[in-house]
Amino acid sequence: MIPAKFDYVKPSSVEEAVTALAEGGEDAKIIAGGQSLLPVLRLRLAAPSLLIDLGGIAELKGIRDDGDGIVVGAMTPYFEVIADNLLQEHVALLVQATQTVADNQVRHRGTLGGALAHADPAGDLGAPALALDAQMTIAGASGRRTVTAADFFVDYFTTAIGEAEILTEIRFPKYTGWGSHYEKFNRTAQAWSMCAVAAAVRVDGGTIAEARVGLTNMGTTPIRATAVEQALVGQPATADAVRAAAEHATEGTAAPSDADAASDYREHLAKVLTGRAVLAAAG
Ligand SMILES: Cc1cc2nc3c(=O)[nH]c(=O)nc-3n(C[C@H](O)[C@H](O)[C@H](O)COP(=O)(O)OP(=O)(O)OC[C@H]3O[C@@H](n4cnc5c(N)ncnc54)[C@H](O)[C@@H]3O)c2cc1C
Repeated sequence: MIPAKFDYVKPSSVEEAVTALAEGGEDAKIIAGGQSLLPVLRLRLAAPSLLIDLGGIAELKGIRDDGDGIVVGAMTPYFEVIADNLLQEHVALLVQATQTVADNQVRHRGTLGGALAHADPAGDLGAPALALDAQMTIAGASGRRTVTAADFFVDYFTTAIGEAEILTEIRFPKYTGWGSHYEKFNRTAQAWSMCAVAAAVRVDGGTIAEARVGLTNMGTTPIRATAVEQALVGQPATADAVRAAAEHATEGTAAPSDADAASDYREHLAKVLTGRAVLAAAG
């Protein structure tokens, strides 16, 4: 179907974009890579009267080292995330998860900021952002504020971004020297996650010294598997110890039932995939 008629603006600064968003009210919508929004418009599930394209704002693109962390502009497309040396060295889990998203075409247009703002619980970027304690910078009429990933994901397709606000950048602390792995389970190559696990561990002398684990599609938001993290710390990086800790993977989850999988099957997957992800991360 062809989308309903809309006006289109392409601001060149965050401030212009925020003003356009405020003036457009609830009929205005941000467009980033369009990979989630355009299908919604074509199905006429949404019909905004104004689209504000962030593609002309240079500040929102690119990846930089700020000392203790790596900062990714919200409009940075997936293919740049995957190819970036800084992220590969310091935030490898994000790169690994991004590599599993869809196909080359989607990874060429889709953006990290768009994916996080969209907050699809089956999306693959929320769990690594949550596990890695990412911080999101959000701009609005009254300036900029920072929100932790733990506070950013509020509910099903709902984030802490307010009505007239824009996600501008995502900052990841450095996890240099950590092992990491994103274990995704889907029915066919390039499909969405039925369930997936993002894991990063620091192994010291054969013992797991620190662990970060995030779950995809096990609730209305990405979920931090804190019980698994606690059970892993101090354990030897062996299959038996890791699988025992992975048994805690369903604590605090509310797995959905849908055409792809019933909730009890997802719970089974979460435990198995957590074991696989952590073992792969631990090398
Ligand atoms: C065929 C196909 C397969 C896919 N498979 C997967 C998959 O396996 N895994 C996966 O994770 N994703 C998948 N996706 C979704 C893809 O990752 C999208 O690119 C992503 O969800 C949205 O990013 P975008 O830049 O295209 O955002 P858009 O579609 O442009 O925007 C999405 C939403 O976020 C809002 N928004 C965007 N940027 C901002 C911002 N900076 N500030 C505030 N609001 C903003 C928009 O208003 C809109 O509501 C798939 C998409 C397609 C088309």
